[in-house]
Amino acid sequence: MKILLQFPEGLKQKAFEEADKLQKEGHHVFISSSPCYGACDLCLDEARALKVDKIIHFGHSEYLQEKPEISVEYVEWKVDVPIDNLSAILPHLKGVKKLALVTTVQHIHQLPEMKKFLEKNGISVLMGKGCFAKYEGQVLGCDPTAALSVAEHADCILFIGTGKFHPTSILSEKPVYAFDPFSKTFTDLSPEIKKLGKRRQGALAKALDAKTFGILISTKPGQFCPHIAEWAKKELEAKGKKAYLLVSNELNPISLENFRKIECYINTACPRLSEDTEMFSKPILNAVDLKELLGLWG
Ligand code: SF4
Repeated sequence: MKILLQFPEGLKQKAFEEADKLQKEGHHVFISSSPCYGACDLCLDEARALKVDKIIHFGHSEYLQEKPEISVEYVEWKVDVPIDNLSAILPHLKGVKKLALVTTVQHIHQLPEMKKFLEKNGISVLMGKGCFAKYEGQVLGCDPTAALSVAEHADCILFIGTGKFHPTSILSEKPVYAFDPFSKTFTDLSPEIKKLGKRRQGALAKALDAKTFGILISTKPGQFCPHIAEWAKKELEAKGKKAYLLVSNELNPISLENFRKIECYINTACPRLSEDTEMFSKPILNAVDLKELLGLWG
């Protein structure tokens, strides 16, 4: 069988081991060397060019709503959390009676154990289900619904895992805490989340005066939203603005900056791109922000 292997950046060092295993079984193996940011980012172009029978995508759970024409096997990468380390959270949760618990796919298999630990210590646990995320209690950088759908009934939101990328997607009025179960570090992320909100308001204020817009479309399978881009163009033109549809697989700020007349970007790809404000010299708004901008123009 012709197989194409795909790994996110943090797992690329495992690629040769996996390729060797499959080659020993008699398969013809290719490894995608393109960057991979999420399960939204399936290497379908390489798979089509090589006419492979299947893609094996490592490290993420299934994401796409529509099945692609090429068979995709998802191999989740489980990382065990030292559950005993969770006792380091307890001094920070004094007074919390009920919380919304979330994690990433690497630790999702231990979510029941984490829940049990918190409940044994007198804290009720709520878990919601995301729109794109496969599992209850799982958050993605673009899908915080597992937390937000239950947040109103909780005193706070607790993310157990590593890094800030996932928990800072949880734009909630409730306190958002992150606990790294390996370093036992507890962080209150609410100030950072508020800062992101302020940055968005700043981008909106700058966009108010823009006359020429670049609407960003990514062809990555889970980010490809041409219908939203066409809607944005129509709405902008109806307000007397110039709007151009800019399409690529990977949205590169350096290439985009060469379209010098653009005064503001409307992003229809990964929503987290709009946080890379230091990479872009112009305001970048997500499609949902455009609705607010249209309202501000009246
Ligand atoms: S769209 Fe962005 S946040 Fe969502 S899975 Fe893809 S890379 Fe991650």
